[in-house]
Amino acid sequence: MHTIGVSVEFDSAHRLFPYEGKCSNIHGHRYKLEVAFVGDTSSNAMVIDFGVVKDGLKRIIEEKLDHKLILSIADPIKDALATYDVSMLLLPDSPTAESLVSYIHLLLSKEFLSYWPEIKISYIRLYETPTCYAEI
Ligand SMILES: [Zn+2]
Repeated sequence: MHTIGVSVEFDSAHRLFPYEGKCSNIHGHRYKLEVAFVGDTSSNAMVIDFGVVKDGLKRIIEEKLDHKLILSIADPIKDALATYDVSMLLLPDSPTAESLVSYIHLLLSKEFLSYWPEIKISYIRLYETPTCYAEI
């Protein structure tokens, strides 16, 4: 068994709702996403090709996360912003790092594990700041 990992970064904005404090204001982060997979090496001596992982991650991030405004589906400002063609990602809960890493886990499970059932996600770690992260 080996573990391999890659990291990518993206920029998004969010606001926590419901929440009392400065994070209830719309603000941005340079998120850093680390993803690790565990599995046996195949005949090419790889668990999974780094290039395949990076390409899949880049596609998911570009389509779903990068330069989006990430809000709770219950956040009342989403309706007003929708009239201004704001690119939003709506999550079922407040868009904390924990909520976002759960959403990313769902996306990566669909992206990778259906094609490579022999590998497993070891962990997904999302840094919201250089010193704060959530992991699943
Ligand atoms: Zn924040």
